[in-house]
Amino acid sequence: NRTPLIAGNWKMNLDHLQAVAFVQKLHWTLKEAKHEAGSVEVAVFPPFTDLRTVQTLLDADKIDFALGGQDLSAHDSGAYTGEISGQFLAKLDAKYVIIGHSERRQFHNETDEVVAAKTQAALRHGLAPVICVGETSEDLEKFGASAVPVGQLEVALEGVAADADIVVAYEPVWAIGSGQAATPDQAQEVCAKLRAVVADKLGADAAARTRVLYGGSVKSGNIAGFMREPDVDGALVGGASLVVDEFAAIVRFQK
Ligand code: 13P
Repeated sequence: NRTPLIAGNWKMNLDHLQAVAFVQKLHWTLKEAKHEAGSVEVAVFPPFTDLRTVQTLLDADKIDFALGGQDLSAHDSGAYTGEISGQFLAKLDAKYVIIGHSERRQFHNETDEVVAAKTQAALRHGLAPVICVGETSEDLEKFGASAVPVGQLEVALEGVAADADIVVAYEPVWAIGSGQAATPDQAQEVCAKLRAVVADKLGADAAARTRVLYGGSVKSGNIAGFMREPDVDGALVGGASLVVDEFAAIVRFQK
């Protein structure tokens, strides 16, 4: 009974003009294919500078995609040059915000504690955090697949209310942008453990309700395998979310 979520993380791609063309094309492609809106939730995560333009387009053309930011500040306002407040994202009708993407952890030194503070900031402003966790290839060798993502999620969920609307994304770092996706079995194993963390921290109801996504080299050719797994509720897609036909095919996955 969890609505699948197919989320496109554009990363640092598509300016606001390209974003408009992309969203319109995606909308028409899904419409032409008679994709049943509502059967799958589609979300796009454009760069900050595109958000207002995409919001206006979704609103004007009644396009049923959810909008999200790729990051936010742990603070609400003030002297934090270059930072973006959750308040600003909420005002642009963002529903989601990605938190703790491995590229932020790697290139911006985001620790588990920063990820936890940002999770709290998102929830303060009514945004659903998409909390990203995942192991590097070294972690995988040393500790196996699940220990690091489980530990990361435990810290992020510290102090989160049982009724909070959150999304968890399991993105093994070795699978991101590598063309080397996890197998559906591997994804299922870790996603089930992450759901158990949600159960432990927020309770059984939250665990039953919360979507756990897989991300890392998801393509139209491998999405069905992931979606057949009981604990994989969708995908966080990078590269393939920038190609209209490819992303539309992922949205239209058949189990
Ligand atoms: P790719 O789909 O390009 O591997 O990226 C995954 C990702 O990082 C989504 O957040």
